[in-house]
Amino acid sequence: MSEKEETTVAPVVESVHCRLCDGGTMRRALIKPYNLNVGIVLIVAGLLCLATGVLAFLGLLAVLFGIYFVWAKKDVWLCDKCGAIVERI
Ligand SMILES: [Zn+2]
Repeated sequence: MSEKEETTVAPVVESVHCRLCDGGTMRRALIKPYNLNVGIVLIVAGLLCLATGVLAFLGLLAVLFGIYFVWAKKDVWLCDKCGAIVERI
């Protein structure tokens, strides 16, 4: 087989029509589902627990949860017209 397989990777333009408004187009978007402040508070509180050695295990859990809260992103459809957000399944 000497022929090269040419795979043309077409840019996948994923968009759907918004059902909540007329003419809006929904595009894929990444949003942060959690409040950043909650995550930061958890991390700070967790670090304090770890630093003082009080409830170190809970502190570690709090830090992990905090990091998750801060970093977690959600893949959703976002309407560019009315701003509606629909969860992708
Ligand atoms: Zn819309």
